[in-house]
Amino acid sequence: MALLVSGLYPGDADPGVCVAVRLGVDPTDVVCLTVVRRALDARHRRPRTVLNCKVELGILEEAVLARKIPGVRRFTTRDEARVGGLAPAIVRRSWPASLRPIVVGAGPAGLFAALVLAEAGAEPLLLERGDPVEARRSRVARYWREGVVDPESNVLYGEGGAGTWSDGKLHTRRRDAEVGEVLARLVRCGADPSILEEARPHLGTDRLRGILQSLRNQLLAQGAQIRFRARVDGLLVDAGRCVGVRLATGEEIVRGPVVVATGHSARDAFGWLLRAGLAAEVRPMAVGVRIEHPRVLVDRALHGRHHRDLPAADYRLVCPPREARAAWSFCMCPGGLVVPVSPESGRVVLNGMSLSTRGSRWSNAALVVPVGPEDYPGSDPLAGVRFQDALEQRAWDLGGGGFRAPAQRVSDFLAGRPSRDLPRTSHPRGATPVDLHDLLPPVVAQSLAQAIRAFCKRIEGFAGPDVVLLAPESRTTSPVRFPRGPDGQAVGLPGVWPAGEGTGHAGGIVSAAIDGLRAARAIDRWVRISAP
Ligand SMILES: Cc1cc2nc3c(=O)[nH]c(=O)nc-3n(C[C@H](O)[C@H](O)[C@H](O)COP(=O)(O)OP(=O)(O)OC[C@H]3O[C@@H](n4cnc5c(N)ncnc54)[C@H](O)[C@@H]3O)c2cc1C
Repeated sequence: MALLVSGLYPGDADPGVCVAVRLGVDPTDVVCLTVVRRALDARHRRPRTVLNCKVELGILEEAVLARKIPGVRRFTTRDEARVGGLAPAIVRRSWPASLRPIVVGAGPAGLFAALVLAEAGAEPLLLERGDPVEARRSRVARYWREGVVDPESNVLYGEGGAGTWSDGKLHTRRRDAEVGEVLARLVRCGADPSILEEARPHLGTDRLRGILQSLRNQLLAQGAQIRFRARVDGLLVDAGRCVGVRLATGEEIVRGPVVVATGHSARDAFGWLLRAGLAAEVRPMAVGVRIEHPRVLVDRALHGRHHRDLPAADYRLVCPPREARAAWSFCMCPGGLVVPVSPESGRVVLNGMSLSTRGSRWSNAALVVPVGPEDYPGSDPLAGVRFQDALEQRAWDLGGGGFRAPAQRVSDFLAGRPSRDLPRTSHPRGATPVDLHDLLPPVVAQSLAQAIRAFCKRIEGFAGPDVVLLAPESRTTSPVRFPRGPDGQAVGLPGVWPAGEGTGHAGGIVSAAIDGLRAARAIDRWVRISAP
């Protein structure tokens, strides 16, 4: 038994004493206190740390609860799971040899699916088209330095998936119990335990790499096999059920259930999933730009004169629909960089990343507007992919090639005139001054302009002279969804478990990892209860 005490501002005082004052008990009555959430409350002139604590008071708890003190309630098992409880391990047992699973894709969804399956004794085979993280690092460096992209191993493909060169933000709007499990597993792989209590935990690209190496070692130690540079090119079907995969080399691997966790950018995978008979539907998404500010501008606007003593500031802004559509900020990278992420030449796709220190001179965020089938060229499942692709190719042409990003000063964008020059940006391939109205669909441009004007009232200098828009932010999520039945198997082809962001069932590192955990547990149930 324990209590959850929320909204404590201890300042320099001992949290135990603060809790005792709030609960009206003696500090010596506090048997145990654990900080379960730590956040910075920047609404005040001097931003303050605010804590939520799990507090054990022994026999006094019922009496304290009866007083109905604001911000005090019972600490539930759901709270327990969220702060890092591991779900009960699947009992390791002998797994039928004819049902050994294949996991396609070593992003968060595939890695976490493989981990749970390995723990269950299933000896999964993890197939990844890209390189292990060490080799991938040099591919990414060459891409950003020289503009030479390896189509199989790059910012989106390779061990760790799309989020490896990222801000490593781990907060999610999901409230599932597995959020804590994912964080606890990351801590086991070497992540800083503070991610369990931070309200907005993040790792940073530099930390993610070591965590991935440790995760790989855990997988291998538990009996998983991993093959890199193994691109899956098709599914093998026998008697109406998927029984394995074909690699791009022509090699056929017949094993058992297949988890497909190929991410939202593997457009070739959408093709072979459709050809294998999986049901699919077109999905709405959001597209827009990256807005980049000098970091100090955002820090000063949000943290005030104490900004130098505080971590880089982040924001989340939403502009509801008015004359145009809604628009919102997304995936903010305080103290980060805008980076090119397209896995192929001829297209510009942008995203943001940061290091654990979030120490760059810039802060950036996506500003995006919803788009859907009414904007797409057609209504078939791949219409959204064609919409993205046309935007990305136009961006390449406008940027002048070499992965240069088309960009515009915000002031010029709002005034409707092309930019003649640009301040220095963080984008490693450089930026070309253009008029982004020549790139963005009119409704997207109009909605962004409306939102930027609204955001200027929230953040001083938001559209200041050195603020730049770079485009396009076009891969916010998957434009296709592969529906699943109640047991998690794909509609249209049993034996396949679609998982993660690419199949339309997750968005972000933690939610993709949760989806992978669930796919693995669904397979375990299926093997026990209904496998042939
Ligand atoms: C630059 C950047 C920054 C981001 N920042 C954040 C952030 O800070 N926080 C956050 O929550 N999210 C962030 N995201 C989003 C996050 O990375 C994704 O939501 C998440 O990685 C999705 O996980 P996934 O496992 O579903 O797919 P992915 O991570 O895309 O993994 C799919 C894997 O499958 C492999 N694959 C694809 N096709 C095949 C094939 N045919 N055969 C074999 N392997 C294949 C790919 O190589 C890849 O490794 C960021 C994304 C990017 C690109």
